[in-house]
Amino acid sequence: MQKPPIIGIDLGTTNSCAAIVTADGSVKLIPYKGGDYTVPSVFAIDEKGNELIGHEAKRQWQLNPKNTVYGSKRLVGRSWSSEIVETMRKTVGYEVRPGDRNDVVIDVARREFHLQEIAARILNKIRDVASNYLRVPITRAVVTVPAYFNDRQRQAVKDAGKLVGIEVVRIINEPTAAALAYGIGKKLHETTLVYDLGGGTFDVSIIEIRDRVFEVKATGGDIFLGGLDFDNTMIHHVLTEFAAKTGIDLSQDPVAMQRIKDLAERTKCDLSTRETSPFNIPFITMTAQGQPLNIEMAFTRKKLEELTQHLVDRTLQMVARVLVDAGVSTKQIDEVMLVGGQTRMPIIQERLTKFFGKPPSKGVHPDEAVAIGAALYAHSLEDDTNLRLQLLDVIPMAIGLERAGGDFHVVFPRNAAIPNAKQIQATTSFDGQTELAMRIYQGDNEAAKKNELLGEFVFSGINAGKAGEAQVEVTFDVNVEGILTMSALDPATGRKMKTTVRVTQS
Ligand code: AMP
Repeated sequence: MQKPPIIGIDLGTTNSCAAIVTADGSVKLIPYKGGDYTVPSVFAIDEKGNELIGHEAKRQWQLNPKNTVYGSKRLVGRSWSSEIVETMRKTVGYEVRPGDRNDVVIDVARREFHLQEIAARILNKIRDVASNYLRVPITRAVVTVPAYFNDRQRQAVKDAGKLVGIEVVRIINEPTAAALAYGIGKKLHETTLVYDLGGGTFDVSIIEIRDRVFEVKATGGDIFLGGLDFDNTMIHHVLTEFAAKTGIDLSQDPVAMQRIKDLAERTKCDLSTRETSPFNIPFITMTAQGQPLNIEMAFTRKKLEELTQHLVDRTLQMVARVLVDAGVSTKQIDEVMLVGGQTRMPIIQERLTKFFGKPPSKGVHPDEAVAIGAALYAHSLEDDTNLRLQLLDVIPMAIGLERAGGDFHVVFPRNAAIPNAKQIQATTSFDGQTELAMRIYQGDNEAAKKNELLGEFVFSGINAGKAGEAQVEVTFDVNVEGILTMSALDPATGRKMKTTVRVTQS
């Protein structure tokens, strides 16, 4: 019997979608009810205890903000101690708590969920939609992640798949997927820059396309920069204006905040095609005397641009850094590709046009390119395919270990090509030592602890001897998906060990 096809899934911060290559070789986005192609990446539990995913969850968001989880992709695979978690905790309506493995859990209706479990539910929903549409049970997928995801975040996505019986056959980077959607079948020889600004993350990658070879030269990004941050500047502005007028702080009122959030996002999108947009919310709160109060204001595109200029500046600074890392000039970029809903904002296109001296390409659909690229890649992995592709990717941040003094010893620098393996010799530092422990981090900071802890690698069974006598060969292996495996060999005892690096303790 023929195996069911592998689908491509774009697991987005705000919306997710899936695509597939059909029997005639064309790529199709998998439609959801009512012709929609995307499923909101939202999970909730309603007052009756029902789990809601996608549109159903998003619809009741305003009324049930404490038990509605959105933007959770930003927390996937994060350690509790990371600054990002701290920032996120302060801005979301749901409760974010420490888990027992220095990870993060979310409290939804007094039930505790690991981030993988939430991602799993969203993947499951998309799988169900695809299985119903294709009338075959789907069990395998290529899933995209931001290029800037570290090892832990990638592993978390694989784990999420496993929880619901989906084999994530390959993780690929979102910008690479977009480049596939753009470049396959065109016999191109060009250097492209993918500028991907979605709901929660920003990624930029420089990719050289040589027909069916897609080689990433450099990548960079910011896991904390996306459409949500544009919304937040607007929300902050509305709250400040309202407080100045009425003396009332709405930030502690979850229902009011949800209404403001909703309208802020809609207004932001409106302002991509209009110069001004009203911002009115009736009965947002009441005065101490019980008199209802409304929000009545207007936003102009100019005001929005002013409020968000620093965010756009940050993206362009990252573009400049990635150009330097790749060793190419703006003139050597043949195409600038826009991916992610937030790139519809006109000022972003204008600033990029100025930066590169030419307008960005309209070659890919910003919302669909990633899922389409994932489906094409999935198709290339099928047994009976005639689509042969070669993806050459890089790691987004350095991987290394903590030295005795706390310094970060880099084993792979950022933008190191993958797959890649490196070996180091490790030795004991005191007499009688029989165990070597290494803390492995990923990030670009010189102090190991300021980077993301990937885990601890412990190798035991070393013959007790003098300090420095043992010579253990430790190999770091990063696979095509950017996932690290470590192995060690002690030639004196012949003892070997191999494992993915995982955080097991706080
Ligand atoms: P994505 O993760 O690619 O689905 O991007 C979603 C983000 O794009 C959200 O923050 C949306 O608010 C934003 N977005 C969608 N459409 C527009 C638009 N027309 N103008 C500005 N931002 C938009």
